[in-house]
Order: sequence, then structure tokens, then C-alpha cells
Amino acid sequence: MKYFLAIIGGGPAGYTAAEKASKAGKDVVLFEQNAVGGTCLNVGCIPTKSLLYGAKQYYNATHATKYGVTAENVAFDFAAMQKRKTIVVRKLVAGIKQRLNNEHCTLVSGFAKVISCQPSVVSIECNGETYEAENLMICTGSTNFVPPIPGIKDNPAIWDSTDALAATELPKSIIIVGGGVIGMEFATLYHELGVPVTVIEAMPTILPNLDPDVVQILLDKYRKAGINILTSTKVTKIEGNDVYVESSIKDAEKSRITSTKVLVSVGRRANLNGLEALNDLELNRGAIVIDDFCKTNLPNVYACGDVTGKIMLAHVAARQAEVAVGRMLKQIPLQRIAYNAIPSVVYTNPEIASVGITEAQAAEMNIPIEVNKLPMTFSGRFMAENEGETGLCKVITDAKNHSILGVHLIGNPCSEFIAAASFAVRMGYTTAEFQQVVFPHPTVSEILHEAI
Ligand code: NAD
Repeated sequence: MKYFLAIIGGGPAGYTAAEKASKAGKDVVLFEQNAVGGTCLNVGCIPTKSLLYGAKQYYNATHATKYGVTAENVAFDFAAMQKRKTIVVRKLVAGIKQRLNNEHCTLVSGFAKVISCQPSVVSIECNGETYEAENLMICTGSTNFVPPIPGIKDNPAIWDSTDALAATELPKSIIIVGGGVIGMEFATLYHELGVPVTVIEAMPTILPNLDPDVVQILLDKYRKAGINILTSTKVTKIEGNDVYVESSIKDAEKSRITSTKVLVSVGRRANLNGLEALNDLELNRGAIVIDDFCKTNLPNVYACGDVTGKIMLAHVAARQAEVAVGRMLKQIPLQRIAYNAIPSVVYTNPEIASVGITEAQAAEMNIPIEVNKLPMTFSGRFMAENEGETGLCKVITDAKNHSILGVHLIGNPCSEFIAAASFAVRMGYTTAEFQQVVFPHPTVSEILHEAI
């Protein structure tokens, strides 16, 4: 049998494409070597959010006096948190399988390898069988990047995010190398559960790609709370549990720090395993180059998700898959992805959420902008529920036509309403148009109405 579409990788890109194409009546084969759901569902977004939620419950209970609540003998059971996380993941994986359960979708469990690729026929080998398809979609994702720091390899003290998620016990102390998204979410988890945390970040700030005003609020709070955050600091070597650092900050203390575990989270790299036969596939910095419809330079070969190195977010992967399948099915009008309106969230406490450009990006692009900043305390609901926090809502608009170009938020629960700002950026709304939208009162989302 020749399939219409073969998909390698069953993460958010792969399973979205499989569902969309098979529900359109096209025969699809989806290969997955681990569990469907990919990194996001099994060892990424969902398990971290499950654990973070447990940690937040504990943290809130132990910090409840500011709301007039006293809770004594509050304790947590990390093994129980892990068990709950596993159940959540299992249910969601089952849900994905259910979505793929139709007569046009074949799910193959195993490592798939491309054998040959000619126009209109791609051959793939998996578990000793050969599969043929008219189109190929590469959704192989990414893997944790291991930096060339002496002492990392084969060191039992070193964890990556997958190890950290699998651990049945909390470390007594932890050093986190890399103050990016993964690093700061794990810093939040361990800190809220009482583990002493040190974050080592090579750049002058943590979360270097985000709005600096928003990041500064988090940095100030976390440092005050006792998280040791070393910026402009590089790890030179690791010996057992000892991490040797070099700081470019004058008079910085300590060149050696020790902890029970060292979590290395310095980025992820595209996973190209199994694609060796695609000699002519165009790559850029180790990631697959795609056009606006997620087509690679090879005929009938598409790529979606982390493997494209575009923006490593599950929701980008899923949207890329929708666009690619739309193109394959020749759906009119053809859709593109609005990369300028991709929301992103960092699940720290408080949460950070943003969409669109930052002030720095506007300057690089020579776009004249106006910036409006408002503390979240302008929202009554925020005041009622976020004792001791100020939060921030920062809006960037085009100085000429007043369209909304970027929104940057810190304050709980901004992850839940950044989508409203995404909608405004995506549709190119002006501030006058956005002001016609009515927000429910009292909600923290009203801050958008106040600030825009
Ligand atoms: P990242 O790129 O977000 O952060 C890596 C950090 O490590 C950067 O700040 C970088 O400056 C720093 N760094 C690099 N080398 C270093 C070194 N030798 N010493 C010290 N610091 C160093 O990468 P990540 O946090 O590993 O996350 C990987 C990907 O997964 C990202 O694309 C991220 O967006 C995605 N992700 C998203 C979410 C979310 O949406 N909430 C959660 C987790 C991961």
C-alpha cells in the first residue's frame, strides 16, 4: 500500500498532521519510537506543569498568612506528585491515541529510517518493514544540547530535564546551568519545594530573549526569595558535584560551587536521526530549512516542529503541521503561519507571557514605537489575589498607525489571557479597535484593556 503521507515523529507536529490529514480521508502512517505526544506530553510541557502545580499548592499553603490563613504542619510527598504527573501524562497520551483512531491512520511503534526519497515516493524502513508514501513529513523534534564543558559526560551528578522529571526523590541542592525557559521553570519547582537553587547563566540576564523590564521583576523576586542567580557567569568545568565557574562580573565571589545535582539546560538541538539518506536536505545551523508552508527543498518533503529550529514551542509545531497539511491537500486559500504573533509563556511564579516584538527588536527593525507600561495592580482582581506583587503589562504599538505589535506580561495568571493579546497582534488591531473589546470584570485580563 502506498500512503498519502508518512510522518516521522508523533509529537504535537506529528499527531496534529496525522489527525488532520487522516480526517480529510487521506491514508497516513505515523511512526513514533517512544510514546505518542512527544517531548511536550511525555517529558516536557505537561509533566513540568503537573509538578509545578503541586509545588505551587505547597508554596501557597506555606505562604498563606498574607491572606489571613494559617496552615500548620503543611507537608508534601514528592513521590505522590510524581505519581499524579504520570497519571496526567498517561491520560493525555491515551487521548491522543483516541484522536488518531480512525480507518485512515496507521500508528507504527518503532524507529523509522528514510531509505530513499524520489519525487512522489518516499521509502521508510521501520521494524524491518518498508513503507511507501507520496509525501513525507519530518517531525522528529529536538534533543537536549550537551555543551562541551569538561566533566559533563558520564557524570552521575548531571541531569538533563528528562532526568529531573523522572527522579523519584528531590535533590538536596541543585545547580542549574542555563537560565532560559527550562532552567527558570525548574528553578521555580525546586525553590518552591524548599531545595536550595543556584542558577548559572552565561548572558548578563536570565531569560535573555524576553522583555528586560518583565525579567527584572522576576529576577528581583527570586533573588530576594533566596535563589542564587549568577549572571554573566560561565561554567569552565565540572568535577563530580563541583561546578567551577568564571564570572565576567568584577569581584564576583566563588569559583567553585557544589550541589547534589547539576541540571544542564542550555538549549535543544534538532534531531536528524534516521534522515541520513536525505543527503540533499537543506539545513541551517543543524535545523531543517522550510518555506512558509513548511516545505523543505526536497519535493514532497515537509518538516514541522523543533526540527525546523524556528521557534521551539509545541503550539508552533501544531500550527506548522496544520499549515503543511493544508498545503499538501491544496486547501484554498493556502494558510501561512503568523510567526509575528506567537505567544510564549514561562511558568515561573509569577508567570511571564508575551507575544510579538520587544523594544529591542523594534529598534533592530527600525520601527518607530510607543511603549506603555502599567503595573498589574491596576487590575482589581490582581490586587485581590496577588498580595505583595506588582506585576507589569507592557504594550508596544506602532507610533505611526497605532497597531499593537507586542505585549509583555508578568503576573499570575497571565498565561491564561495572553491569547487575547495574540489575537490583537495577529489581526493587526489598532489600539482604537482593541479598546472596543469588552473584558469581564473583575479579571486580571482587564489589564490589557487598561494598558492598550
Ligand atoms: P533556552 O534557549 O531557553 O535557554 C538556554 C539558556 O542557557 C540561555 O539563557 C543561554 O544564554 C544559557 N546558556 C547557554 N550556554 C550556557 C553555558 N555554557 N553556561 C550558562 N548558561 C548557558 O533553552 P532551554 O531553556 O534549554 O529550552 C529549550 C527549548 O524548549 C526552548 O526553545 C524553549 O522555548 C522550549 N521550552 C519552552 C517552554 C515553555 O513554553 N514554557 C518550557 C520549556 C522549554
